[in-house]
Amino acid sequence: MNLILMGLPGAGKGTQAEKIVEKYQIPHISTGDMFRSAIKEGTDLGKKAKAFMDQGELVPDEVTIGIVKERLQKPDCEKGFLLDGFPRTIAQAEALENLLKELDSPLDYVLHVDVPQEKLVDRLTGRRVCPECGATYHVLYNPPKVEGKCDNDGADLIQREDDRPETVSKRLEVNIAQQQPLLDFYEDKNYLVNINGDQDINVVFEDVDKQLQTLA
Ligand code: AMP
Repeated sequence: MNLILMGLPGAGKGTQAEKIVEKYQIPHISTGDMFRSAIKEGTDLGKKAKAFMDQGELVPDEVTIGIVKERLQKPDCEKGFLLDGFPRTIAQAEALENLLKELDSPLDYVLHVDVPQEKLVDRLTGRRVCPECGATYHVLYNPPKVEGKCDNDGADLIQREDDRPETVSKRLEVNIAQQQPLLDFYEDKNYLVNINGDQDINVVFEDVDKQLQTLA
């Protein structure tokens, strides 16, 4: 099962990724996670990626394509993979297409977790995180037991800098501009499956799962 997962910040892509890899036992390949761990380990890749990530820019295609190429050839990808955060440019999508051809392992679906932009603004601006344990809450949809305090450790919850209302809209616009050409690219090739992400998490997963059952 060869999958790409797409969706804007706040759409719940991470949650669906966890559920898919748990049920289907395929590796979750997140280029963002790969870069973050390379930075932590201080590898050459980490050094190359850090400057771009710190500026909020994309890491150059040749670097990103290189790590994905290497990763997809590891033995655990023989039964499939879930790509998350890749491709982010048309050049990456084309490189992936060529690589999968070489590996004789065609793509199955591009799952797009779709949530209207105004709902995403609500989801992101209402998000609060615990600075101690990393737990996340939402002031309306998933409030802590005591307002403003983490259920796990009682720490004061904070709002991430990039979840502030003044930055959320800008962040969404940038992501929409980046994502739309890829959605068009995969729609043209008939890989795109839109999943309604504006539903309960478990219902979203039921829809994802129904689609994946068609591959069984
Ligand atoms: P993410 O966790 O997916 O939001 O990625 C965090 C950062 O890693 C991005 O802002 C980029 O700087 C970099 N990155 C992740 N995936 C890619 C990609 N496919 N192409 C270029 N840069 C990427």
